[in-house]
Amino acid sequence: MAIGTLYIISAPSGAGKTSLITELLTSVEGLEVSVSHTTRDMREGEVDGKHYHFVTADEFELGITDGLFLEHANVFGNYYGTSRASIYQRLEAGVDVILEIDWQGAQQIRQLEPSVRSIFILPPSVEELEKRLQKRNQDSDEVISRRVAQAKEDVTHFVDYDHVIINDDFDIALDNLRSVFKSQRTNLDKVQLRNPAFFSALLNQT
Ligand code: GDP
Ligand code: ADP
Ligand code: 5GP
Repeated sequence: MAIGTLYIISAPSGAGKTSLITELLTSVEGLEVSVSHTTRDMREGEVDGKHYHFVTADEFELGITDGLFLEHANVFGNYYGTSRASIYQRLEAGVDVILEIDWQGAQQIRQLEPSVRSIFILPPSVEELEKRLQKRNQDSDEVISRRVAQAKEDVTHFVDYDHVIINDDFDIALDNLRSVFKSQRTNLDKVQLRNPAFFSALLNQT
């Protein structure tokens, strides 16, 4: 068993997943987000290698053939995938790793890593989701309509997750998200793995 814990966070596009994770990382130590590969266009403000590794469809398909991806899926007509390299190395090093992936990828990871902890973020309503995508102002009207239509199907998958967080009030949602990560740190097996010297000293004193 690795010292670090693997997490999946999924949500329909626009639910606030990226905003919540960005804030989470500023207040919980020892946590990293895996950088996925994608074939979608880069948005304004996005940085290659930071938000995603932006690749062509040919490059992505080569990656599939070479077994580069732990999981991959087609979302909104683009490929998205998690590269195998680095995730296990980070978990072994004791870092908790978040995969910010869709429900199809989540299904694949659960088969490979049954110990994964999964969280689904829901918007307060589909109307609010559409408003947020418009306010974000990063996708065309056509892309937004497609994402809202897809969201109606995406939300039905919340039943497969360990935790569900409704992102209505941002601060309350963030607090709930933080609690999931913090509570997991007291898991018996993980505490023992992280502190071998402490337990050995404690038990030798008795
Ligand atoms: P946003 O969620 O609206 O910011 O849109 P993105 O374009 O960043 O993500 C589109 C979808 O692809 C979301 O459902 C993500 O969770 C999903 N996604 C991103 N990276 C991956 C990945 O590596 N694997 C899988 N399976 N899905 C991913
Ligand atoms: P996702 O990564 O799930 O697609 P984002 O984090 O990009 O979602 O959020 C979509 C938009 O909604 C952003 O403009 C963000 O600032 C806004 N947003 C996120 N959470 C809330 C909230 N609780 N209330 C109002 N707006 C929010
Ligand atoms: P966006 O294009 O708005 O950044 O992301 C759209 C969707 O793709 C999000 O729901 C996101 O979770 C999903 N996604 C991002 N990276 C991956 C990935 O590596 N694998 C899978 N399966 N989905 C991903």
